[in-house]
Amino acid sequence: MDSPSSSSSVPSSVLIVGSGVFGLSTAWALCKNPLFKDTTITLVDRQTFPTPDGASIDTSRIIRPDYASPPYTRLASRAQNLWRTTFAPEHYHETGLCLVGAGKQLNYVNASLANVQALATDNVEVCKDGEDIKRVTGTSNASGEAGYVNWSSGWADAEGAMIWLRKEVEAYSRVKFVTSTVSKLLIDHATSVVSGVTLSTNPPTTLTASLTILAAGAWSASLLDLRGICKATGQAIAYMPISPAEEASLRNRPTLLNLSNGLFMIPPSRGLLKIARHGHGYANPTTIRHPESEDPNETITVSLPYTAIDDPSQQIAPEAWADCRQFLTHIHPSLSTPTRPFTKSKICWYTDTRDGDFLISYHPKYKGLFVATGGSGHGFKFLPVIGDSILECVLGETPDDFKGKWDWPMTRVPEDEWEGDGSRGGPMGLILSEEMSKARASKL
Ligand SMILES: Cc1cc2nc3c(=O)[nH]c(=O)nc-3n(C[C@H](O)[C@H](O)[C@H](O)COP(=O)(O)OP(=O)(O)OC[C@H]3O[C@@H](n4cnc5c(N)ncnc54)[C@H](O)[C@@H]3O)c2cc1C
Repeated sequence: MDSPSSSSSVPSSVLIVGSGVFGLSTAWALCKNPLFKDTTITLVDRQTFPTPDGASIDTSRIIRPDYASPPYTRLASRAQNLWRTTFAPEHYHETGLCLVGAGKQLNYVNASLANVQALATDNVEVCKDGEDIKRVTGTSNASGEAGYVNWSSGWADAEGAMIWLRKEVEAYSRVKFVTSTVSKLLIDHATSVVSGVTLSTNPPTTLTASLTILAAGAWSASLLDLRGICKATGQAIAYMPISPAEEASLRNRPTLLNLSNGLFMIPPSRGLLKIARHGHGYANPTTIRHPESEDPNETITVSLPYTAIDDPSQQIAPEAWADCRQFLTHIHPSLSTPTRPFTKSKICWYTDTRDGDFLISYHPKYKGLFVATGGSGHGFKFLPVIGDSILECVLGETPDDFKGKWDWPMTRVPEDEWEGDGSRGGPMGLILSEEMSKARASKL
């Protein structure tokens, strides 16, 4: 089908590739929206739910309206009202977010502060120095030079909330769930129409639909040429078991996020303390067959996820272990004694765009293909609302706030020229294989 300009262009069948935040919330929105009552809905994912290596599945995700960009502040605020009330409220914890930084990262912090103050509903307290940061976060030493705490922000048990939503979707009995890997889009090159996908079954089989929505997160670039538009970046997470008493003492503290080094700690839950880095991440350049080419020998090189599904022994790289350890030693030295190891780690993959804006758009060339991805490390909080927004875009009614932000970009920009949204800290230019080979070398 063509990009519709009115709600009369409702597809008779929708195939969603990917069961993360973007895909599952779209399936939910389709079930709820009466315009799509006659539409058949299929959701395919390469893993059984909940996807063990998907970006949407983890112990916790920050839920904040704290953005330097006002449209995201407004949308996050709408989502947060649902988290507080009807959307998986048992998985949402409003313990605050302390956003700190130093140097140029304070620009983001200050813009975000202005945005949440403009909401006039959030309970915000400025931290003018390290002493203020220590006081509100309960840490032994301050991370960052200044910032603020928004007591109206919180965090969610990400896996719990995704399981909650999956049950909501299942209750409609409208969605056909398929577990299989999509090997390629079904492209008719003569007409530039996408009519579904080919599965990597033996022999290959197909799923067809009048509208295919590609929501495969960081893997999207393996199914569509997204060079200069989206790329996968690997982010480090480390977990440490803690005692019930330690957990109780930290449970009601705000999340601490230092935008200068990217490191953050969400309050522990279920006996696990988590330190992670919201950074520039690892690139994993991978040469694959060109996903859109008719020539089987044409290849492209793109950054793609490499996860514990690909290598069950995968851990984060030595520099990331060191970074997480240093951060914990600084803020909570009593928890970071040599006898207290991080026992688990994970590389989780962002789908980054050049400016941190999502990519929610029809494909400019292929009819019948819509793309919903580009979470850029901040998509989870929108779980209660993003599916509805995606359907608005499908119907050609992109929310005014996001016109020009979520659209397919006019040009492809070389990835080394991307500016991001200004929220990232930590090391730049890391290549996954190089950092991992340092781990192997240290074991020799
Ligand atoms: C470490 C980390 C911390 C984060 N912290 C926050 C936070 O604090 N707050 C916040 O709001 N956001 C946060 N985010 C971002 C948020 O989690 C993501 O933006 C969001 O989960 C992305 O959802 P998605 O649906 O695009 O991707 P995913 O959840 O990865 O889903 C993509 C799905 O596609 C499937 N798939 C891939 N390829 C194929 C194929 N070929 N065939 C079939 N299926 C396929 C995958 O199995 C997967 O289930 C964080 C992300 C990470 C990684």
